[in-house]
Amino acid sequence: MCSFLTIGVPEHFANSFAEIFGRGYAIHWMENASILTAFPHGYTTRIITDGHCSCSFYRDPKARTDEVDRLLRFQNKYAKLRWSQAKIDRAIAHIEAAHQRGDRINSAWLGLRADIVERLSELCRLAGSVAAVIHMYHGEIEKVPLTLKRTPICDCGELVARAAVLAEDEVLHAVSRKLDSHC
Ligand SMILES: [Zn+2]
Repeated sequence: MCSFLTIGVPEHFANSFAEIFGRGYAIHWMENASILTAFPHGYTTRIITDGHCSCSFYRDPKARTDEVDRLLRFQNKYAKLRWSQAKIDRAIAHIEAAHQRGDRINSAWLGLRADIVERLSELCRLAGSVAAVIHMYHGEIEKVPLTLKRTPICDCGELVARAAVLAEDEVLHAVSRKLDSHC
């Protein structure tokens, strides 16, 4: 099963997908009813992939939290056994090596990958607003019903911080401040 990143912009700015994600990414027209309902009214949506899926664009921040929690539990357990810190460190390094497949613990980034966030921010400024959601699909992308969670609207400039803690099924919605002055 794969993760797919759905991005939406106001219908009028549909061409901006190609402008921002036209090089180095694949853009697929996709309308999932749950996503259209969760996104602002009048948005058109696309799935952005690396040509196959969006798995490489996203690392679940919660996965890391769980991993850190697990290590802290080991740390406490060994501390209670009155092990020396050096011995605890060696034990934890051993556990990490055993459990770690890939780079979850030492990952330099979490949430959406930097180049994706950069383009999302550009898209936000170009289209005036943008919405995005990531979901790990177990059914037909267009048909599967999703339970999505709306989050407070942020500014295009805040996307970097927000994307780093983005959870699966959480709707990221950003607007350009320039538009606010017209409100
Ligand atoms: Zn995948």
